[in-house]
Amino acid sequence: MGSQAGSIILKHANIIDEGRCMGQADIVIKKDRIAAVMPDAGPGEVGDDLLDCSGLTIMSGLCDAHAHLSWIDSADFNSIDSLPVEEHMLRTADNARTYLDAGYTMCVGAAAAKLRLDVAIRNAIDAGQVPGPRYLANGPEISSTGSYIDQLPESRPVAEFGLIADGPDQVRKQVRRLLKQRVDLIKLGLSGEEIVGRPASGQTIMDDDEVEMAVTEAGRMGVRVCAHARSAGAVRLCLDHNVPIIYHASFVDEKSMDELVRRRDEFFVVPSLAFIYRLVEGDGEPFGMPKAVAQHLYQAEVDAAVAAMRRLKREGVRILPGGDYGFAWCPHGTYARDLEYFVDLLDFTPGEALAAATVLGGEIMGRPNDLGRVAPGYLADLILIDSDPISDIKILQERERIVGVMKGGQFFRRPSSQRGEVQGKQ
Ligand SMILES: [Zn+2]
Repeated sequence: MGSQAGSIILKHANIIDEGRCMGQADIVIKKDRIAAVMPDAGPGEVGDDLLDCSGLTIMSGLCDAHAHLSWIDSADFNSIDSLPVEEHMLRTADNARTYLDAGYTMCVGAAAAKLRLDVAIRNAIDAGQVPGPRYLANGPEISSTGSYIDQLPESRPVAEFGLIADGPDQVRKQVRRLLKQRVDLIKLGLSGEEIVGRPASGQTIMDDDEVEMAVTEAGRMGVRVCAHARSAGAVRLCLDHNVPIIYHASFVDEKSMDELVRRRDEFFVVPSLAFIYRLVEGDGEPFGMPKAVAQHLYQAEVDAAVAAMRRLKREGVRILPGGDYGFAWCPHGTYARDLEYFVDLLDFTPGEALAAATVLGGEIMGRPNDLGRVAPGYLADLILIDSDPISDIKILQERERIVGVMKGGQFFRRPSSQRGEVQGKQ
């Protein structure tokens, strides 16, 4: 009986909102939204579900702005590509659950490994069939012949891991294919990727007319474009053609940085450092990537990206966590390492890192008035933590410290010893 019809009242919690400690208050949740945040919500009414949250910190669920629900923790792209679709769908569902379990209630899909994996998992999550974060579904990345998504011999063409398009007409065809599947985003591979050798991170592999076509076609359906853009030229393409979500931006040049600062309300920059940072730290060693080799490939990029992000952050550009998780050296479940990198490498305070993962999460999800805050009217997407992440950002990496996860007013994980329904008088 009870709690379905009534409110959920989270009492005596320490609240973090917009990355700031707001002190102790009660949160009243009606249906899927926060109805009130007040010093004392009283004892509640019959049928209300009261939780004593003394000693717990409550904040918005986190956002991963560069998520791959269909990546399978492999060390190479081919393993992702060759997994049969049936097993792949199950792995994708597993990863969706892992995100929510880790306190992530919002994820921006940054490319799917097969045509419909992202769309199918988003639909299943929305329908309540599979637990997972709110998700912007992407399709496979679109890029040119010989790009980093197209590295297999001609005799074994890439399956669906990437969609090859050369010239605006082919780009149009692939974008329309994805729009037909009802993707929320289109991803372009504008630069190379050092790990494949050529094209390298600093090389730009798509042209103006191709990017313009993708943005125009996607725009007809109100769909945004995001881009793998490690090179300076790739960031330039994003600025020139209004690609609002820029991934990596490691080698962004001075002119583009100035423009990003000027147009800071138009773009989101997601450096996705985990993939390259963990490699140069030697985490790829067990998977055949010696630290020295990784440093040869990526140290210069890590250094360039860190310097650029520090400057962009200082000047108010929206920079979000989301680290390309789902590879062997940055596996699913370790997403909150990104917050540590923001603090340790990019000069964010812990509070600023939390704001980037919550408030800016709501913005990049396109729902700034629904997601990312603990405030009346917002969706009740909340995490309950056994201590204060502002004093130690690393605690968000420990699953057992996140004692509660709620999405849309429903607990995915409920704190164990803190339940109590208000009973009526007999
Ligand atoms: Zn990625």
